[in-house]
Amino acid sequence: MRDATRVVRAGLPGFAQGEPFLPGPTFANPYHLAGDPSSSAYSYGRYHNPTWTHFEQALSELEGGTAVIFASGMAAVTAVLGSVLRPGNVLVMPSDGYYTARMLAEGYFAALGIEVRTAPTAGNAQMEHLDGATLLWLETPSNPGLDVCDLAILIAAAHQHGALVAVDNTTATVLGQQPLAYGADFSVSSDSKALTGHADLLLGHVAAREPGWAERLHTFRSQQGAVPGPMEVWLAHRSLATLDMRLERQSENALEIARLLASRPEVKLVRYPGLPQDPAYPLAVRQMKHYGPIVSFVLEGKTQAERFLGACNLVFQATSFGGVHTTAERRARWGGDAIPDGFIRLSVGCEDAQDLLDDITQALDTVFAAKGNHP
Ligand SMILES: *Cc1c(COP(=O)(O)O)cnc(C)c1O
Repeated sequence: MRDATRVVRAGLPGFAQGEPFLPGPTFANPYHLAGDPSSSAYSYGRYHNPTWTHFEQALSELEGGTAVIFASGMAAVTAVLGSVLRPGNVLVMPSDGYYTARMLAEGYFAALGIEVRTAPTAGNAQMEHLDGATLLWLETPSNPGLDVCDLAILIAAAHQHGALVAVDNTTATVLGQQPLAYGADFSVSSDSKALTGHADLLLGHVAAREPGWAERLHTFRSQQGAVPGPMEVWLAHRSLATLDMRLERQSENALEIARLLASRPEVKLVRYPGLPQDPAYPLAVRQMKHYGPIVSFVLEGKTQAERFLGACNLVFQATSFGGVHTTAERRARWGGDAIPDGFIRLSVGCEDAQDLLDDITQALDTVFAAKGNHP
């Protein structure tokens, strides 16, 4: 079956006369349970929930592994780091990856006696740091810089060094790129972003290649308690059905916008893995099926970037990415990433491409004209 069919059907419990296609969320904590607890699939809400089971089944089918869901992407990241790493171990992370994951590693896990080594995503630079590594953490395309690294080469090298490999696949999603098919041990995702795509929930998951690791992640979740609510999980499952359509539209729109930005002299740098002149393109074209919703670009400075955002009528100002609504932010307002002040992360939605192009064009024209008045 092809992707558009797989996402529509993933995790549905099967045909039963008079039953819904996708059962509604099960709101329950304790379940009726007499006698031996192992006689029931469901006992207590922190361990399992039928709504989770359906969605985990869906993600397992799509990832080609065993999926465990968490209350957020960071809870999923924490579960992998917490299940794998012990004092004295070595973690190799991207220096340009998701800020909060880096802070968790360099703060909490480093304080537990774990050596954290970092290197950029571009140029497969993490390769040089694998001696004695326990876990190689990859993020491709990286957020927010959109550099891409070679999954096949890095995963093979890490395994030769006896290290496990986790790939944060949030920006690409499972339909954009399949880490487990490249041999990764863990595919990690914030499902708060493009996977669910409606800007209405927080969720995360890990898919493990080995069922034994999925078992350990499940135990970690049950003990540590970062469990998702059934309503969020049901919404996520409902949203999953349109993932292929959304990604297709978002990627088409993003490419057109990247082309427009690249044609404007006021724009100093444009990054989009699907743009043929992008340095990430040769690798992305081999490794990715969709190039995703994020386009990054740089205007002259903070003032110009803020003016641009203020001049947009259709593009909402907001953080995060991957939703059906096109949003943008001046990323350096948060601090922590090595990016210029005028760096804008644009998350392209599912609106009509021409409307978006028109809005961005008029906003650039407004900023450029205003600048001309103040030499
Ligand atoms: C957002 C994000 C996360 C964290 O996900 P939350 O759902 O916000 O906890 C992790 N990795 C990447 C690449 C992200 O963009």
